[in-house]
Amino acid sequence: MKIIRTTRSMTAWSEGLRGEGVTIGFVPTMGALHDGHRSLIRAARLRCDALVVSIFINPTQFSPTEDLSRYPRPIAHDRALCREEGADVCFEPTAAAMYPEGFQTTLAVPLLARRWEGAARPHHFAGVATVVTKLFGMVRPHLALFGQKDYQQASLIRRLVSDLNLGVAILVRPTVREKDGLAMSSRNVFLSPDERRIAPLLSAALRAGEQMIRSGTDDVAAIERTMRQTVEQAPAIQIEYLAVCDPDSLEPLSVVAARAVLLGAIRIGPIRLIDNLLVKMPGRKVLNQGFRLKAEGGFDDLGFKQK
Ligand code: AMP
Repeated sequence: MKIIRTTRSMTAWSEGLRGEGVTIGFVPTMGALHDGHRSLIRAARLRCDALVVSIFINPTQFSPTEDLSRYPRPIAHDRALCREEGADVCFEPTAAAMYPEGFQTTLAVPLLARRWEGAARPHHFAGVATVVTKLFGMVRPHLALFGQKDYQQASLIRRLVSDLNLGVAILVRPTVREKDGLAMSSRNVFLSPDERRIAPLLSAALRAGEQMIRSGTDDVAAIERTMRQTVEQAPAIQIEYLAVCDPDSLEPLSVVAARAVLLGAIRIGPIRLIDNLLVKMPGRKVLNQGFRLKAEGGFDDLGFKQK
């Protein structure tokens, strides 16, 4: 596995392979890799000839009060995981190379960014949209993989790629969880044993909401109340939001139709955790289909190259 640190070498490597007809898969990460990242890397490995994993802790997506300096950086472990999963390149650009003096362009996806994570973290999605677009420009992948764990982020990236004709197929893979339901996250290491014990209440709340929908409840207020009550079993948890939304626009639903996404964010002490569940009800009338984006660029909707 090659470790590439400069943007110029990264692009030269990719362009060389593209010229030979090799398909390039890409998994962008901020490092501190766990089994959630591993599942994306494996899925990419299955689908593409060459595989790039980037590790870049993007400063522009953190606010001044957030944990940029505390973000875990186990680089030896991360490289070993990438190597183990068959990555060809671990791309580790420096912040100075990503944002040289004079850098000033930022991208906005205003409607998809305005609620939920975007409301809680005002510059977050502009940072994400910009860095992902830059990374695509450097890595020139055919297929890029993202986790459903960050549902709003994945929605925004699909929109961005479609709106700007970036020519990269996007595949979103399911959330990988611990045995007790907690979604894997690089931030989970900061939870104390007591905090770790109550953290799975977030996924339990989403599952309780899902259960209500599946058993026929379409009353959004009742579903949100149940989700809240589940989390409130632990007084140490503060709820930021627990919402029933349209899976495409991410706007709150007033009545559950055929599809809904349950979005949640909580705080336990200084740690913020997010999670979501997509609920699809076969056979129910679709009230609001919104926009749905298809996989593009010669890949089918499972991310495999079309013959
Ligand atoms: P991060 O390193 O947190 O920026 O995440 C890099 C990629 O891994 C993003 O596409 C995330 O959505 C994805 N990811 C993070 N945690 C998980 C998880 N538990 N399951 C699946 N994908 C994940």
